[in-house]
Amino acid sequence: MRSPIPDYLADVMTACAPDEGGQVADYIPELAAVDPDQFALCLTTVDGAIHEAGDSGAHFTIQSISKPFVYALAIQELGLDAVLAKVDVEPSGEAFNELSLEEGSGRPLNPMINAGAIVTHTLAGPPADRFDRVLAGLSAFAGRPLDVDESVYASEAATAFRNYAIANMLRGHGTITEDPAAVVHGYTRQCAIRVTTKDMALMAATLANGGVHPITEEEVVDDAVVRQVLSVMTTCGMYDAAGDWLTTVGIPAKSGVSGGLIGALPGQVGIAAFSPRLDEHGHSVRGEDVFRRLSRDMELHMMNAAQPARATIRRTHTVRHAEGGDARVYALHGSIQFAGAERLLRDLVSRADELPTELVFDLSDVHAINATARRMILEVIRRLTLEGHHVTLVDPGATLPEPDSGSGVRPDVVGSVGEVSRTA
Ligand code: GLN
Repeated sequence: MRSPIPDYLADVMTACAPDEGGQVADYIPELAAVDPDQFALCLTTVDGAIHEAGDSGAHFTIQSISKPFVYALAIQELGLDAVLAKVDVEPSGEAFNELSLEEGSGRPLNPMINAGAIVTHTLAGPPADRFDRVLAGLSAFAGRPLDVDESVYASEAATAFRNYAIANMLRGHGTITEDPAAVVHGYTRQCAIRVTTKDMALMAATLANGGVHPITEEEVVDDAVVRQVLSVMTTCGMYDAAGDWLTTVGIPAKSGVSGGLIGALPGQVGIAAFSPRLDEHGHSVRGEDVFRRLSRDMELHMMNAAQPARATIRRTHTVRHAEGGDARVYALHGSIQFAGAERLLRDLVSRADELPTELVFDLSDVHAINATARRMILEVIRRLTLEGHHVTLVDPGATLPEPDSGSGVRPDVVGSVGEVSRTA
């Protein structure tokens, strides 16, 4: 059987294809010469499944989609505070190439507009090996060695008058101290790195997967870095259309003037579309349409209410304990975070007077417990034990490994409810 996902992606493309609105970027001469009808789509899950439609192997330059990844590399290298000292994280509500800086500090407003990205580029390493680091870092995000489109680079470097102006403005404020032209050359080379739609989907999936590439399994950056990057993509990635994008699509995203558009939905998927004709904000017209449809059809909006926490307790029941007396079993399921753990604690607290001595938390159907939920569950086990209860964990998948509650309290761990119960 063939997966229905690529068929669905092809259907989405068919629905979006007739729209020939927008213009290819023409302020970079080489980009003005591309075939405007190219169209590709790729969706990659965080566990490495790749679904492609259209010409997903065609090459184009990454342009501004490099910005979140170089921002990630800079934070990984220097730490967040050092990067924040140079580039703020406030949405500018302005076009990507605006000549604007924060009053007083001279910081660009965010790393997604050119001013911020030009500064961020200088934070990616010392001048001598900066570009090698950028190229190696973006290659790690993609999971294969990338290269530079020299003709797009030369074409933009010869015409990047606005970016030279921005770099000179940054130099004037002391935000950068290097030669402005050299900095623009480095940044322009970064924008001229060649990718495919599939590369971009994997780069986005690496962000969606907390910084670990879904296929190479390389940890490219830490999860705390990814949270910062996705937050900034959410508020600033679509420039002066960020609010409209967040409300209608709701996927942290970044666009580029060559027609690429990526979205990273944490814990689920990386998505990339490529279609060169752009709207007035510099975003791919058909790319945006693709994302709107995917978000709507597949419920990918990040603000969709998550699974309700009450679902954490699948059921409670009483069994005869193997050593006599009753045992109350809490069968939990799903992925447990703060609100799910709170639901369990609340139930235990509200029944404190009626709980038997023996308590069993059945984690057989739990697939993940985050660090906060783990602390909460271990603490309630500690309190229950101090009050005279005996807690057994049924945890065949070691979802709660090393369940040490402190103060010498450790619940028993078994592989099935059958091991603690006596069949009536
Ligand atoms: N290299 C382009 C520029 O600096 C990138 C802009 C973009 O993709 N939005 O103008």
